[in-house]
Amino acid sequence: MRVLIADDDQISRTVVKAQLSKWGYEVVEAIDGEQAWQVLQEEDSPRLVIIDWMMPGLDGLELCRRLRESGDKSYHYIILLTSRDSKDDTIGGLNAGADDYITKPYFAQELEVRLRAGARILNLQQSLEKALEVQRYQAQHDSLTGILNHREILKVLENELIRSERQRSSMAVIMGDLDHFKKVNDTYGHVTGDAVLIEVAERLRKSIRLYDTVGRYGGEEFLLVLPGCTKDEAVMIGHRILGSIASEPVQYQDYYIPVTISIGLAFNKTGAHTDLGEIVQAADTAMYQAKQNGRNRLELAV
Ligand code: GH3
Ligand code: MG
Ligand code: MG
Repeated sequence: MRVLIADDDQISRTVVKAQLSKWGYEVVEAIDGEQAWQVLQEEDSPRLVIIDWMMPGLDGLELCRRLRESGDKSYHYIILLTSRDSKDDTIGGLNAGADDYITKPYFAQELEVRLRAGARILNLQQSLEKALEVQRYQAQHDSLTGILNHREILKVLENELIRSERQRSSMAVIMGDLDHFKKVNDTYGHVTGDAVLIEVAERLRKSIRLYDTVGRYGGEEFLLVLPGCTKDEAVMIGHRILGSIASEPVQYQDYYIPVTISIGLAFNKTGAHTDLGEIVQAADTAMYQAKQNGRNRLELAV
């Protein structure tokens, strides 16, 4: 683990550095508070920090305060190292945002165990952060296909509707529903049906532009949000989707499964408010029209 030592006294820095290196830490040095502040601003700054209280310019206490007030996205564990040893000083140091406090002269072993306690907390915090990230991802994505789930794709649509209204730009929504998908399940089994859904999601993802988004709206229904897209562009993307799904059967184990999709396109009212429910309904109605008109085709909302 990396440790930042901020101390204006070179000798004291060198002593601490030698000890830390012996205990297996990688040391980053700062010769005063300002330099420490610069290092702490960096994306991958050391999370474990030893700060001397008394430094010219920005002192240790002020540095603690500044760091805590900045919101400090990735937590830094701060040990204040100082010769000020009154109770008031200790309270003041911890109040300013330090996590721990060691008075000089200190026992090397005490610094070692206090550093270890800090490292433990940082490791714990890191694994919590990772777990949260995984949870957030799972809450937003469909577990089968890996694309956005129903709630998230609607959130994307909501935001894009607001943005396109503000920017007076056009945008399109595509509702796609696989044709006779029940038959795929009935013929090849549900597991194969799942494999088809995964492959379809992948083909949809490859058919859209970088700034478009695809989500699983329901069982075998997909919703696509195409910001800044004119009618002509949307129709072109729609045809590309039809082609990418129908052109090659989906292979799963020994099966080659022909798949087609019916899609409906709807558009926002450029420069005016478009209701989320209305545009989804319009795309859905157009999709049903595509079903009625023979499937494996697209229809535009009226
Ligand atoms: P249409 O062309 O009119 O859309 O016919 P369809 O058979 O696709 O439509 P229907 O709505 O009758 O059937 C949809 C089927 O999709 C039924 C359901 O079992 C299947 N399905 C929904 N979600 C999943 C899933 O996660 N995995 C699998 N394997 N099948 C699913
Ligand atoms: Mg269907
Ligand atoms: Mg359906």
